[in-house]
Amino acid sequence: MSPIDEEQLQGLKGLREFLQRRTSYDVLPLSFRLIVLDNDLLIKKSLNILIQNGIVSAPLWDSHTSRFAGLLTSTDYMNVIQYYCQFPNEIDNVEKFRLSSLRDIEKAIGVQTLETVSVHPSRPLYEACSRMLKSRARRIPLVDIDDETGRETVVSVITQYRILKFIAVNTEQYTSLLKKSVREIQLGTYKNLATCQMSDSVLDVINLMVVQNISAVPVVDKNNTVLNVFEAVDVIPCIKGGAYDELKSPIGEALCKRPEDFQGIYTCTEDDRLDAIFQTLRQSRVHRLVVIDDRQQLRGIISLSDILKYVLFYGEDVDYFSS
Ligand code: ADP
Repeated sequence: MSPIDEEQLQGLKGLREFLQRRTSYDVLPLSFRLIVLDNDLLIKKSLNILIQNGIVSAPLWDSHTSRFAGLLTSTDYMNVIQYYCQFPNEIDNVEKFRLSSLRDIEKAIGVQTLETVSVHPSRPLYEACSRMLKSRARRIPLVDIDDETGRETVVSVITQYRILKFIAVNTEQYTSLLKKSVREIQLGTYKNLATCQMSDSVLDVINLMVVQNISAVPVVDKNNTVLNVFEAVDVIPCIKGGAYDELKSPIGEALCKRPEDFQGIYTCTEDDRLDAIFQTLRQSRVHRLVVIDDRQQLRGIISLSDILKYVLFYGEDVDYFSS
């Protein structure tokens, strides 16, 4: 084993021990607010609440059973849009759907069911990460039991983004040992990439994301040069006010609706090292990295789940890692 291999494994070991020592509680800020939506709320209204509060997801609460009822995310709105496309005569019903109907919508269009996986906040952070990765959830609610009533309570929700930021900020002594390049550890996806062009409609791209269960599609020109990335969260401003017809407009127009504080997209090359990626995660709001070559042409995509999966499982459970 070369010294660089040894160092890399030492770094991964340090990170895994850190994730076992820390709990999900540790990731939470000292003070925060949590918006929980009642499952009986109209889907249409839920969208306005997310937009007004500048959030892109919220836990759902079933007030009939007093139980946590899953997590509402931009994927759910994309499913509603898919439903609307598959059953155009149902448009009047779509307006009347409540959040509790999301499961029926998923069944009707044949996609994976709503993410109901959760974790106790005082369990090791490693457990929250591995549950998220195994269920392909991008965020996980922290659910505790109220001592007095014995009922479930949703404490907060943590995302892959937040966890990777927490790792990047607190474990520089380990992340600095990860000197292998993206190419050497084959981090990310390089085959069968889903891409789109500026002139493709928002609907076509939503369809790609739903069918492939991905949260972003790089926008390229005819030479495969990367121009932008359309993300699942970009769907929310497009359907604001229930204007589903606007979804037929091109991606280029939809990208103009991004909030003013949008931070841009992040790129890297296959020669970049994992320690440098952690440096970027530490300093910026990165949700994925688009891998390009020296001519800005698309090579691949590295999602936060790819990074987390590598940190947790590389060399541990080979079967799971290669799945
Ligand atoms: P995350 O789980 O971090 O939200 P995604 O759902 O976008 O990220 O990614 C899930 C998996 O799909 C990852 O392994 C990622 O590399 C891959 N992936 C992401 N975007 C694309 C794409 N446009 N085409 C093909 N594969 C992709």
